[in-house]
Amino acid sequence: MDSGGPNKASGEEEETDLYELLGVEKTSTAAEIKKAYRKAALQHHPDKVPEDQRAESEVKFKAVTQAYEILRDDEKRQLYDQFGMAAFDPSRGGPGDGGVDLNDMLAQMFGMNVGGGAGGQRRPRRGRDEEQQYKVTLEELYKGKTVKFAANKRVICSLCKGSGAKEKVKPQQCDRCKGAGVREAYRQVGPGLVRQELLPCDNCEGTGMFYKEKDRCKKCKGKRTVEETKALEIYIPRGSMQGERIVLEGEADQFPDQIPGDIVFTLVEEPHDLFTRVGDDLSAELDVTLAEALTGFSRVVLKHLDGRGIHLEHPRGKIFQPGEILKIAGEGMPRKRGDERGDLYLSVKVAFPEAGWLPDDAAYETLRQLLPPPEPLISSEEVDEVEYEADADIEQMGGRSGHPRPGMVWEDEDDDDDQGGPQCATQ
Ligand SMILES: [Zn+2]
Ligand SMILES: [Zn+2]
Repeated sequence: MDSGGPNKASGEEEETDLYELLGVEKTSTAAEIKKAYRKAALQHHPDKVPEDQRAESEVKFKAVTQAYEILRDDEKRQLYDQFGMAAFDPSRGGPGDGGVDLNDMLAQMFGMNVGGGAGGQRRPRRGRDEEQQYKVTLEELYKGKTVKFAANKRVICSLCKGSGAKEKVKPQQCDRCKGAGVREAYRQVGPGLVRQELLPCDNCEGTGMFYKEKDRCKKCKGKRTVEETKALEIYIPRGSMQGERIVLEGEADQFPDQIPGDIVFTLVEEPHDLFTRVGDDLSAELDVTLAEALTGFSRVVLKHLDGRGIHLEHPRGKIFQPGEILKIAGEGMPRKRGDERGDLYLSVKVAFPEAGWLPDDAAYETLRQLLPPPEPLISSEEVDEVEYEADADIEQMGGRSGHPRPGMVWEDEDDDDDQGGPQCATQ
């Protein structure tokens, strides 16, 4: 992880590979990048290293934080992939990254402040992001979707402009937090996972100042913020992927003296009955009857995610084998940019007729005459008549003797053991 030399950390002069900096692959998921950043940030956190390494680790810390700021954001990440750091350089026409706010990042990731120390005099300058998951169907990801919703959020009280007091009232220092405005608290962030963070003091609502009941703002009752319902809208571009983030900048709850955080939706793709998605490609089963597999057909075989019927011509004289894979170019998922699409893979599934489907012996005989003749007979000196159990389970193979199931053996490529797992007898 820490392979980048000291010159890499400066980040300004020469182009540093952000993925390399975080020790992740270009193809890494958002979750992997987040994990790598957490690890790197903890490692280089200025509070976690001896005094003499502090300056160096601060530089490194800033570098990994900046890398994460860009790679965590889908849009910024795409820009970076395309143009490199030039995309974020205002002098070269980029939008600029506005500088990375360490406190902001730390407050979000760990609930701590750089230089905050015991007293916690410095409050986070940016509110926490509101993270939520948003479930989407494959159909919605195929077509794209706009979602309108009403969000209940806290906004700065318009009457007192966030002071919490009536006009011309002199504030007193809050005695519970000694004017710091914050208290230490523990927050559950996952099962059995608790982290410490600084929360606004309840008594003074984080102001560090306290007002008597009669001096408080009438509208917010001294709370400095009021609840408001706001109509919001998110747009999910077609071709979006599981795990992508959609950010509504600055739409999280407002607190006085803070830049509001973002509302962040992480897309969760719901499993689909017919289609399986891998990247831009889709796969589905192609159900045909035995007659169709043998004699051909021309029909709609599948309803696509946008409702279109997919028509397939399987000419007479050609055979579909069970398990055969057909690839239909350009019928996969749309890409976010451009008109290109992934491909659709169809796996042929042949429905064989039920037992006893023909009325009489003569019919079977006719069918037999139509189908190709069997392979030449196997000649053998000695012959045993055997009985069999139909519909057996291959998973049980090897089970009675305590050997691993054959499925496991087959999947293991370098497995070369000669335990004599039964080989296919007809080979
Ligand atoms: Zn107010
Ligand atoms: Zn207080």
